[in-house]
Amino acid sequence: MRKPLIAGNWKMNGLRASLLELSGMARAFSPALRAKADMLICPPTTLLFPAAASALGSGIAIGAQDCHAKESGAHTGDLSAAMLFDAGASAVIVGHSERRTDHGETDADVKAKAEAVIAQGMLAIICVGETKAQREAGKALAVVAKQVRGSMPANANAAQVVIAYEPVWAIGTGLTPTIHDIAEIHADIRKNLARLLGKDAAGKIRILYGGSVKPSNAKEILALTDVDGALVGGASLKAADFMAIVEAA
Ligand code: PEP
Repeated sequence: MRKPLIAGNWKMNGLRASLLELSGMARAFSPALRAKADMLICPPTTLLFPAAASALGSGIAIGAQDCHAKESGAHTGDLSAAMLFDAGASAVIVGHSERRTDHGETDADVKAKAEAVIAQGMLAIICVGETKAQREAGKALAVVAKQVRGSMPANANAAQVVIAYEPVWAIGTGLTPTIHDIAEIHADIRKNLARLLGKDAAGKIRILYGGSVKPSNAKEILALTDVDGALVGGASLKAADFMAIVEAA
């Protein structure tokens, strides 16, 4: 019922030559694969426009990695949701842990950004996840529940939002939670979404797992009931790795 979404976050990686990897992905994203999984690539903003042009007709959606919550104004260096949409984005990642850490973004900031993305008719991919210390203190479920409550726009639906559960300590480290821990926290996120939005809406919203997903572990993670796709960093930079994850979905 929930079509898996495999999303790639290129972070601050990629020059125009990297679009060759995107072309490789487009060639490999066959009609049979498209029927089974959605695919999104979020390149750095400098590549949004050419990436969207290059992905045209391939079934690959192109997204941005952040946006400002305001529509326009005196915010030097920032970009609005409307600008990202205009450059070819149909989705925006908000609240990635690197933004929460490097730029001090709070749940309220993330919620405001998600609202701006939705207002522009795009999909907001809202990231949540605990730190290593929080997991070791047994607080992972509570921390993530609070982030979901604080970051989720009111009355959001499955066409407007996706949640990405990304334990901070698993991002770019090669570490992943146990399969049991991933299953437990995804089920808990869905339970909290049901409290916020009702059972029907919560049942339709996709919850992605992110954090050191690679071809070798994708199948096991993506097979879990409440895992509806993946947000992939490092392994999204190479067409061969990323398409192996799409195949696993
Ligand atoms: C990410 O940046 O969202 C991420 C999950 O990175 P990686 O796959 O490299 O751990």
